[in-house]
Formats: sequence, C-alpha cells, structure tokens
Amino acid sequence: AKKLSGNQFQLYDPELEDRTVESVEFENDLYRALKNDELTAVYQPKYDSLKNVIVGVEALLRWNRPNKGVIKPRDFIPLAEETGLIIPMGEWILRKACAQTKEWHNQGFEHMAVSVNLSPQQFNQEELVANVKQILEDTELPPSCLELELTENLIIHNTKKTLNVIHQLRELGVKISIDDFGTGYSSLGYLKDFPVDTLKIDKTFIDELPENPNNAAITNTIITLANSLQLDVIAEGVEKKEQVEYLNAHGCHLIQGYYFSKPLKAENVMQQMYSQYL
Ligand code: C2E
Ligand code: CA
Ligand code: CA
Ligand code: CA
Repeated sequence: AKKLSGNQFQLYDPELEDRTVESVEFENDLYRALKNDELTAVYQPKYDSLKNVIVGVEALLRWNRPNKGVIKPRDFIPLAEETGLIIPMGEWILRKACAQTKEWHNQGFEHMAVSVNLSPQQFNQEELVANVKQILEDTELPPSCLELELTENLIIHNTKKTLNVIHQLRELGVKISIDDFGTGYSSLGYLKDFPVDTLKIDKTFIDELPENPNNAAITNTIITLANSLQLDVIAEGVEKKEQVEYLNAHGCHLIQGYYFSKPLKAENVMQQMYSQYL
C-alpha cells in the first residue's frame, strides 16, 4: 500500500497489478508451451580447434512464445524449475536432441555427440535413469554419443544418492560433464570419487582471457587438473581469437563459443558439417 497524504493510503497500485497480471499470463503460457509445441532446441557446435572440425553440439532450449518472440532460457527456466515444468521440458529436449543426433548419424556424421543440460530437479527424479535408457532405446542413439551436463552444486549436495545415479548413468554408457566448472561452492575433493568424463570451464573464466591474470590462473589450473585426472576439458563462451590461442597454448583444444558458432537450428548444423568437407 502506498501512503498518499495524511491518513490516506492507496491499496490499489495499477503498476503492481500490471506486473501481476503479466506474471500470471507468463506462467499460464509456459504451461501451454509444451502442449502447443512451442519449445524448440537449438544446437551450439563444439569444435576441436586443432582439427578444426565439429565434434559435437550442446542442445539448448528456446521458447517461441506466441506474439512475444523467442524467449531465452534465463527468462523461463527459473519459473520452469519453480513449477516443476522443467521435468517434462527437460525430457522433451533430451528426446529431441537424441533423435536429432541419430539423424545426423544416419546422414553420415557418425562421430556426432550431443550434450544435454540436466536441471537439479530432473536429476533428482526417481525415473531419471529409466527415462534416459528408454530414450536411448527409442531413438537408437549409441549411449556414448550422449553427454549429460550437470552443475557442481548438484553434485556436492546429497553426495551419496548423486554418486549412485551417476554410476547408473555411466553403466548405460552415457558420458557426464561438469558444467560451469569452478563456479560452484565446492572443494575439488569430490572429483576423485565422481566418475565424470569432462570438465567444462565456465564462460566467466574465459571472459577477459588472456589479459586478466586471475582468470588465466584459474583456467590453467582447471586444464592441468583435467589432464592429470585424465578428463576431457572444454571451454565455453569463447568469443575471441586470442582466447582460442591462449587455450590451445595451454592444452585445451575443445572450444564452444560465438567465435566458432552461435547456437544453430539443426539444419544449419548440418550445413556447417557439410562445409567442413568442401
Ligand atoms: P549453459 O549450460 O552454461 O549454456 C551456455 C550458454 O552460453 C548458452 O546460453 C549459450 O548460448 C551461451 N553462449 C555460448 N557461447 C557463448 C559466447 O561465446 N558468448 C556468449 N555471450 N554466450 C555464449 P543459453 O542458450 O541462453 O542458455 C543459458 C542457460 O540456460 C544454460 O547455460 C543452461 O544453464 C540453461 N539451459 C539452456 N537449455 C537448457 C535445458 O535444456 N535444460 C536445462 N536444465 N537448462 C538449460
Ligand atoms: Ca551447459
Ligand atoms: Ca555451461
Ligand atoms: Ca555457463
């Protein structure tokens, strides 16, 4: 309530009302998004910067909201998490990404791998392992071509259960990547117990490379750590040539970022791959 003058209060604030109506609409629209086929997947290529070829893609969600244009994940994933919608949405993109990647295999690109982000809620779902297994069977994608990206914070909470789920996923043959590596509130100790395949260096460390000595030190440390634990290491958010050069010089050859490519529609990934062979 706004105090106007004297003892008068204004209980009705039209501005606030607008915002509330908007957020209710937003939530209703989000509920309809899946059913109405408004979600899409885009794919950001991951490059091997030594061979200059695409080795895989990361699948990323987009929402084509009617009359509003394309909505990015940071504007709807928090609400999807809150409402639980992230579970069916996450399953949707997992299935979509596996089917798409199988199609690329069928078109002759049999090395193509795909990464899919798993939200904490999705990860903690009882049916996760069974769902992943079913999707792999249905789409006939070889499990080794699927990588699941998990965040560190998910791993350090609830360690025992998490470890168990990761073991089961690995038994299926699926790969595990630690996303946004270095940004979580964790010690590195868990790495020795968790069977992961890849560390993904977060964009915040790649930004300001090579001139920022702190970022450079952290990046070097992650690369060295990955090498000594025999894990793959990939850098995300790479936008500049100097960053690629720096990473290459320090032993990181897997690169994802606008420097090579923004997230693309599936057909444009195909074009990129064909053009590698021209
Ligand atoms: P993320 O997993 O760290 O994904 C990388 C984000 O950085 C993507 O944003 C990507 O488009 C963006 N990016 C990649 N290279 C560059 C670059 O060179 N410069 C800049 N400025 N940005 C770059 P996007 O697609 O908006 O996704 C944001 C976040 O939303 C993701 O961060 C991820 O946490 C979440 N997200 C996206 N799709 C999904 C999904 O299917 N499931 C879940 N659970 N989360 C998702
Ligand atoms: Ca990711
Ligand atoms: Ca990331
Ligand atoms: Ca990130």
